[in-house]
Amino acid sequence: MNNPTISIIAPCYNEEETIEPFLRRIEEILTQINEPYEIVFINDGSRDNTLNVLLNAKQNFKNIRIINFSRNFGKEAALTAGLDKARGEAAIPIDVDLQDPPELIKELVARWREGYDVVLAKRTDRTSDSFAKRVSADLFYKLNGKISNVDIPNNVGDFRLMSKRVVEALKQLPENQRFMKGLFAWVGFKTIAIEYVREKREAGQSSFNGWKLWNFALDGITSFSTLPLRIWLYIGALVSFLSFLYGSFIILKTLIFGVDLPGYASLAVIMLFLGGIQLIGIGILGEYIGRIYSESKCRPSYIIEGEY
Ligand code: UDP
Ligand code: MG
Repeated sequence: MNNPTISIIAPCYNEEETIEPFLRRIEEILTQINEPYEIVFINDGSRDNTLNVLLNAKQNFKNIRIINFSRNFGKEAALTAGLDKARGEAAIPIDVDLQDPPELIKELVARWREGYDVVLAKRTDRTSDSFAKRVSADLFYKLNGKISNVDIPNNVGDFRLMSKRVVEALKQLPENQRFMKGLFAWVGFKTIAIEYVREKREAGQSSFNGWKLWNFALDGITSFSTLPLRIWLYIGALVSFLSFLYGSFIILKTLIFGVDLPGYASLAVIMLFLGGIQLIGIGILGEYIGRIYSESKCRPSYIIEGEY
């Protein structure tokens, strides 16, 4: 296989039902675009029959490559592997559940031909996601936009086109905990967004719910902002200042009115409140120290069992 023009990067985790419909739809589009292409599937330690379905598909469809992980490393690692292995002039990560409409690839490629290095696919309508997911996503983008030093574009997922230059830049980033949306934004380059409506999942189930999304958001924020660490300086200063005022008040009161004993309630409240604040502070330190710890082990972000 010569080097293709377009590399499609498709991470799969328990997607046995969606792979066939995905391939049928995307192959039609890619044939219409009429450029040499490859589809790089990353089987991210699926527990179902995904690998066999992929191996079968390789018999029936052209230009398929399969990278099989030794276990589940998560979507971020799967994307990283896909980008590492992609040989095309442009790389397009896409979900196999058909939530990202393959028809859009035509427009992505057209814009890239106009000279853009990054073409983002922006969701105009998220009604296919649950209410809770929409609200929390919205909050995340707002908070992240305020406190982090890279601007992650609103409502843009991993579905996008990146030129080879961008992919090479991403490969140079050595961190092994990879919050891809943040890294994509961090590398920069000439970017344009096109809009689309996000569809419902074709089959199977989303693997991102509640707790996993919360951790994903924490990773996102602690990867690209140190504000949660620095803010304790100000909270600490404010609390100390208030304590100083309150202390002065008690001393004056004792000097003027003499000693009296009541005050159990206020003491208990102050102690509990400060204890809580300290624990939160320690927790946030822990988040960052945990990151330093994982990075310092220098483990790779994924292990490949085999390539087919
Ligand atoms: N995925 C993956 N590894 C994981 C979880 C998900 O490679 O640990 C893939 C999954 O197969 C799909 C894409 O990431 O192609 C998006 O996952 P999902 O549809 O579950 O997420 P959602 O669309 O609900 O955000
Ligand atoms: Mg999905």
